[in-house]
Amino acid sequence: MNKNKSSSSILETLKAASDITDPGYGRWAYELWESHNENYFDGKLEPGAIHWGCPPAGHSANYDFTRNIITFSTLMWLRTIDGKAISVGDYRRRIKDKAAFSDYLLHEMIHQAIHQRHGKDGESYTIKTKIAQGQVARLYQQEEYDVVKIHKCKAWYDEVNRLNSAKFLNVAPGKIAKDPNSNYENAMSYDELIRFPYIFRDYFIKKVNAKGKRETNKGRKKQKYNFFPD
Ligand SMILES: [Zn+2]
Repeated sequence: MNKNKSSSSILETLKAASDITDPGYGRWAYELWESHNENYFDGKLEPGAIHWGCPPAGHSANYDFTRNIITFSTLMWLRTIDGKAISVGDYRRRIKDKAAFSDYLLHEMIHQAIHQRHGKDGESYTIKTKIAQGQVARLYQQEEYDVVKIHKCKAWYDEVNRLNSAKFLNVAPGKIAKDPNSNYENAMSYDELIRFPYIFRDYFIKKVNAKGKRETNKGRKKQKYNFFPD
């Protein structure tokens, strides 16, 4: 175990709070975070809150490095067991798709790792530079947050390549995370970089295919990567 005492006491406090704020799934999400931390990050990530609510611009999840908070969309991730609408916080709410949630959490934890490990050499450098240049009025208003650059930088490529190795996920054997404009034959596309690791999973490919077919049948604009068709 690499966690120091204060990290594990923070995590225990967060778990206990989630029993009140997000009963039935909050603690499970923290336990999954803890397990990912041990399995993929050598237990070295500093725990932060996992919020349930509304990430910027309707995204399914988000990492806010200014507060070390991961936010998941209640709309996209929670449902009732019986399918009926219920109030927020109802204990019957549950995660829709635990395999997918696990991968999306890991994706946000890569952002978390980059900020915690690399500081200004990671994606935060992009944001801080923009602030210094007066280009960012408020962080995390979607139109001001450079979602391209945080998935197109050396820190992101390094983490994706580490986690895509045989030792860890190996979800895209032979593929390499590097600048998608490099013309390198086995380079991941930008879509693959921004949606690592879930874009490579069977559940994602099946849902994307189902969505494309249904949208086409309705004569609506085809959306390739809208993960939750319902
Ligand atoms: Zn991301």
